[in-house]
Amino acid sequence: MMHDYEAIIVGAGGAGLYAALEAGRSARTAVLSKLYPMRSHTGAAQGGIGAALGNVEEDKPEWHAFDTVKGGDYLVDQGAAILLAEDAVRAVYDLENRGLPFNRTAEGRIDQRRFGGHTRNFGEAPVRRSCYAADRTGHMILQTLYQQCIKSGVEFYDEFHVLDVLIEGRKCRGVVALELATGEIHTFTAKAVLFATGGFGRMFRITSNAHANTGDGPAVLARRGVPLQDMEFFQFHPTGIRGMGILITEAVRGEGGILRNRMGERFMERYAPRLLDLAPRDMISRAILTEIKAGNGMRGDGKIDDYVLLDTTQLGKDILEKKLPDITGFSRTYLGIDPADSPIPIQPTAHYAMGGIPTDLDGRVAADGGGGFYEGLYAAGECACVSVHGANRLGTNSLVDIVVFGRRAGKHIADFVKETDRGAVPRDADEPARAEVARLTDGRKGPHGGILREEMETEMMEKVGIFRSSEDLAGAAEKMRELRGRWTEVRVQDTSRKFNSDILGVLELQNLLDLAWMTAVTARERTESRGAHARDDYPDRDDAHWLKHSLAWLERDDVRLGARPVDISTWKPQPRKY
Ligand SMILES: Cc1cc2nc3c(=O)[nH]c(=O)nc-3n(C[C@H](O)[C@H](O)[C@H](O)COP(=O)(O)OP(=O)(O)OC[C@H]3O[C@@H](n4cnc5c(N)ncnc54)[C@H](O)[C@@H]3O)c2cc1C
Repeated sequence: MMHDYEAIIVGAGGAGLYAALEAGRSARTAVLSKLYPMRSHTGAAQGGIGAALGNVEEDKPEWHAFDTVKGGDYLVDQGAAILLAEDAVRAVYDLENRGLPFNRTAEGRIDQRRFGGHTRNFGEAPVRRSCYAADRTGHMILQTLYQQCIKSGVEFYDEFHVLDVLIEGRKCRGVVALELATGEIHTFTAKAVLFATGGFGRMFRITSNAHANTGDGPAVLARRGVPLQDMEFFQFHPTGIRGMGILITEAVRGEGGILRNRMGERFMERYAPRLLDLAPRDMISRAILTEIKAGNGMRGDGKIDDYVLLDTTQLGKDILEKKLPDITGFSRTYLGIDPADSPIPIQPTAHYAMGGIPTDLDGRVAADGGGGFYEGLYAAGECACVSVHGANRLGTNSLVDIVVFGRRAGKHIADFVKETDRGAVPRDADEPARAEVARLTDGRKGPHGGILREEMETEMMEKVGIFRSSEDLAGAAEKMRELRGRWTEVRVQDTSRKFNSDILGVLELQNLLDLAWMTAVTARERTESRGAHARDDYPDRDDAHWLKHSLAWLERDDVRLGARPVDISTWKPQPRKY
């Protein structure tokens, strides 16, 4: 079936919905989402959205921008970070005006709390910058934006899974999607397509990410020749529930939670004497693993699945119930403990993809390292790389990213479609996607995808995790190459058409394998340590050789590598101390 729109938005998380709202002002716009919009992963975001409102103490966008650059270990494009920090203030008030119920101070202003790596006066001390709605900030953003989209007539195709993108030369013409309810394949043509498909933490065994976070957008584009940027940088959040990875927000430490090892020591005193438990995530995750390897984890056996404690007992029931109700509930449900009485057992969890589809400040997708762009192709949110997070994202900056750059991309699309004619799309444009689905469901016997998935998750966790080495990365890259080969033999067991989640699982696995391969290869190539990319064999940052973004092209049997310069026009790179 064919559908024609002016703008197609793939993804109904915060980035997609904000873009749809803006594009939909003047362009006929449809949102395609493999999930019902309200189930998008933005809804899981707990701690808050950073903006230098200065409501509870002095703060400035310039300080926010600097923290973002330093937090990202100077791989952040500085012009983009300045724009992010300045626009964050407008974005938060805009969300408030659209109905978002932020927590408030006694005077009625939006309340703010501390978060890792956010400081006043260029690193002096922690600052209260995170605006929040209890520990359900992302849920409230989704609700607010979705109702605004419905009000303004944006059309939604829920449970439509995008399989392919139509690109001719450097022009994007539309997408091909599978309708889950019927098994039917649809072609959507458009003058502009924006990908806002979220992250891909599911390539790791322990992750805070939902099952749907399989990197479909970046993988689909990479298979059509689009380069991906900074794929080696994947963030581990320090505080996932032990063994499960479910996130315990940094806001717990922002409210006064303390990390302790088996001797009860506040070990962050040794690693970040000034910011302590509110140092950036990459540093705290490394500190936890270092403690564990030294036998200071709770079991004390030095194995990487040991854990430490997040002590919340000094916060008191009132703060826990009022400001962190979901975290309190998670602890009761998953661990059977009350955080007011017992500390929470935690270990680092794979959390956020800093890399992704390279874009400019308006969401236009870069075609190469030299300033060329695709026409009519956009990306925003976690699947994109602007780059405002560099080698390590600061907490609260992803929600800013999705609303600031989702909105900018939507605005650009609205103008772009006015000046652009629709290109012709061949009637058989959906043929590759049809052939793929037909192959997977041809009834022949093949290996089950689940086995490959387990092997991928374990390999990525053990070899492409918090600490990395040449040997491990080379092994992981080779393993991903092998798993990609074995994937071509996989067949689905359920060959029916309606609600066939078996097919989706196998297609998502292909996406994860492609991205895991690119992550392992780019990590192997980067012979330095920077932000979340910590190499045992190259422990120092090496600005002389590596102050550059990596680009990676997915080729049939290879990952081709290139580079793009980093904008360091405002702050000179310095050693990163907290
Ligand atoms: C537990 C948790 C807590 C977090 N807390 C915070 C926080 O407090 N502050 C902060 O700044 N950040 C936080 N983050 C990060 C932040 O929530 C995410 O980075 C951000 O919400 C991503 O938004 P998005 O719009 O890019 O993607 P998502 O919200 O993940 O949406 C992706 C959309 O793409 C659609 N999609 C995907 N693939 C396809 C396909 N093939 N076809 C069609 N549709 C598709 C999905 O259906 C979905 O609608 C947190 C993350 C986690 C995991």
